[in-house]
Amino acid sequence: MEKYVREEIKKLNAYEVLNKDFTIKLDANEGVEWIKGLNRYPLDKSDTLRGELAKKLGKDKDEIVLGNGSSELIELAMKAYLEAGKTVVSFSPTFSMYQIFTIIHKGNYEEYPLDDKKKLNIEGFVEFIQEKKAKLVIISNPNNPTGLFIPREEIKKILTSVDAMVILDEAYIEFTNEPKTDFTKEFKNMLVLRTFSKAMGLAGIRLGYMIADKENIGYINRVRSPYNVNALTQEMGLKVLNDQEITNKNIEMIKKEREKMRLFLQGKDLNPFPSEANFLFFQAPKAVFDALENKAVLIRDFSGKLEGYYRLTIGTPQENESVRKIIKEVQHATS
Ligand code: PMP
Repeated sequence: MEKYVREEIKKLNAYEVLNKDFTIKLDANEGVEWIKGLNRYPLDKSDTLRGELAKKLGKDKDEIVLGNGSSELIELAMKAYLEAGKTVVSFSPTFSMYQIFTIIHKGNYEEYPLDDKKKLNIEGFVEFIQEKKAKLVIISNPNNPTGLFIPREEIKKILTSVDAMVILDEAYIEFTNEPKTDFTKEFKNMLVLRTFSKAMGLAGIRLGYMIADKENIGYINRVRSPYNVNALTQEMGLKVLNDQEITNKNIEMIKKEREKMRLFLQGKDLNPFPSEANFLFFQAPKAVFDALENKAVLIRDFSGKLEGYYRLTIGTPQENESVRKIIKEVQHATS
C-alpha cells in the first residue's frame, strides 16, 4: 500500500530489463558461451517459473515476485516499507532474522512475548502493535521455533485492526491443514512469503516467493536487484513444480512422524508444544542435548534466550528412531 512505502521508494523507478527477440545479442556485456546458455543473464523476474507458479496458485503473474530464498524477500520488504527509526513488531520467540534485518535497516524492533503455553494472545498483540505505532508487523505462521499456527480468522483480525504493513511468513505452511492463502486480494496491507526450502525439500537451490496485491509487488520490484534468481535455480524450480507427487508424499510422511515424535516426547515428560511445522519445540534437561551431541546428532539449543528449550527438526523415520533411542538410553541411565 502506498501509504506505508518509504518516501524514497515512492519516487523511484524500477530497473527494467528488456526482453526482446534477437539475431545477435551484444547489449548486456555478457561473455562468450562455453557452458550451454550460462553466458547469458537469466530471465529477469524469473518469468517462466513465475508464470507456472501463478497458474498453480490461481494468481496473476503480477501478484508474485521470486527471491533468493524467502530470506531475501523479508529484506526486500524492509527495503521498501521500513523507514529508518520506525518500529517493526513481531512476537517472541520467533525467527531471529526478523530482528537482524530490522537493525540492519535502522528500524526499531519490538517483540511481544508468547504466553507460557507458547500461544499468542491476539488482543494483547494487536494492542501492542497499536501502542508501539508499528509500521511493519512480521508473523511467522506456523511459527519458528514453537510450531504455533494462528488460524486465518485471527490473522484477518490483525490485518483489519492495525495501521501497518503485515508480512505473513508462511515458510512452513504446507505442513498445516490450511495450506492456501486466498486473501491477498482482500487485504492490501499484506505480503505473504513462501519458500522451496522446507516442504519442497530444496533449501540448497535458494528459492522463495512473495504473494501480494500487484501494487505491493511493484514496490518490491523497485528495490530488487535485477536477475536475483539464478538460471540453475529457475530451471530446478520449474522441474519441481511439475512434479508435486514426491513433495506431497514427503509432507504426509513428516506429519505422521511429527505426531509419533510428539507422543514420544510427551511420554518422556519433555513437554513438546503443539506444532504444525516440520519441527517440535520442547523442554529437556541438558543431559538429553548432551547425549544427542555426543552421537553427533544436531538439534537447536535455545538456552541463550530460553533456558532448557530445544527445537528438533523431524527427519526421516530412521533418523527419528535413532533420536528416540538415544533419548530412551539417557533417561534410563539417569532414572
Ligand atoms: N522464515 C522462516 C520462519 C524460517 O524459519 C526460515 C528458515 N529458517 C526462513 C524464513 C528462510 O527460509 P529461506 O530458505 O526461504 O530463505
